[in-house]
Amino acid sequence: MKGAFLGSCLLILAAETFLRFLDGRHQHRHRGRVPPGFETAVSAATVEQAGDYARARKNVTLIESVTGETLFLLFLFTPLLPGYDRWAAPLSGSPICGGVLFFLGLFLLARLFDAPFSWYRTFRLEDRFGFNRASPGLWISDQVKSMALTMVLIVPLAAGSLWLVTATNRWWLWVWGLWMAVSLFLMVISPYVIEPLFFKFQPLPDGELAQSVNHLMKEAGLRAGKVLQVDASRRSSHSNAYFTGIGKEKRIVLFDTLLEQMNRQEVVAVLAHEIGHWRSRHVRQRLLFSAAVSAAGFYVAYGLVSFGDIPAWVGAGELSLAAQLLVLSAAARIAGFFATPLSAAWSRHHEREADDFAIRLTNQPRALASALIKLARENLANLYPHPLYAWFYYTHPPLVERVTRLQNLPSATPEEAQV
Ligand SMILES: [Zn+2]
Repeated sequence: MKGAFLGSCLLILAAETFLRFLDGRHQHRHRGRVPPGFETAVSAATVEQAGDYARARKNVTLIESVTGETLFLLFLFTPLLPGYDRWAAPLSGSPICGGVLFFLGLFLLARLFDAPFSWYRTFRLEDRFGFNRASPGLWISDQVKSMALTMVLIVPLAAGSLWLVTATNRWWLWVWGLWMAVSLFLMVISPYVIEPLFFKFQPLPDGELAQSVNHLMKEAGLRAGKVLQVDASRRSSHSNAYFTGIGKEKRIVLFDTLLEQMNRQEVVAVLAHEIGHWRSRHVRQRLLFSAAVSAAGFYVAYGLVSFGDIPAWVGAGELSLAAQLLVLSAAARIAGFFATPLSAAWSRHHEREADDFAIRLTNQPRALASALIKLARENLANLYPHPLYAWFYYTHPPLVERVTRLQNLPSATPEEAQV
């Protein structure tokens, strides 16, 4: 069993590395080539720089993932895991406190491992390509805040889950209920409690843009006050926009960097796309789907913990409940790998749906195409992902494909033809 499990974990790592290699090579072959339809807005030098940026990021990710995964597998499949498990259990006295200590220690180790990569990404890589705007002080304060926040969440969640496992019969249902309640609660309080710790959200300043936004929101039957701008420029010059929330907490957020880079028509087109996510209930669909998947996951975990022989998977004699759950998380990663392309395809379908909605709402496909080209240029996006890599991982359709689709739509209004 141990050999088959270790073999599967290594195969997944090899497959991920191969996909990254394939993508890097594909990108290199198209180095500096401007895609059709991008000629007026993007120069060959920018495409070349985008290629260098993608390669530099890929190299860091490759080193981080291969080292991290190797260390994790070493921990899992050697006497390190039972040793660490024995160390955590007696320190606390109770199985629940022991379990919490087990996860907390691993979380701190993982953060320690991540920190130098995050530092390198921010102050070497992003800096080299002119994106970074964060000071070392801000980076440190972000790290401390997010670490404290995660610990505040992990401790009660792990303690509550472990307690439910020991105290209830069909624990999978109760633990699932707890996790669902916590994620819904976090979604609701996040805009008021968590996000303001890092960012400042404001309504759009009065003016022509705010008027256009109000008009568009009214046309879509939504409240205009739900469109906010965020001071993303404090950390980076990357630009973006997103839609988030459920129930009364829905909102559309535009990065201040995006507002700097785009003209009014382009911002309106991006906003119409986000409204498309809102009106098509994409967040709710994904939430319901992840609720169903996690229910199935907890049910399988319950069956395996109750009737399986999880310690044998890693060649250990005996393991605490917390350690068995860690082994299961490695198994879940294997399942997650195979689910990745399905989830990505579903997300790409949502993106196309939001694009279509935006075109129906604004009648301006070329404004959206031009906004996407600007996003690609300003963020040095990878214009040549390998088709297999994009199919496997991309949550958005590859940019060239997306822009070509929009540019080929018939021009709806005479003024649109000039955009
Ligand atoms: Zn979208």
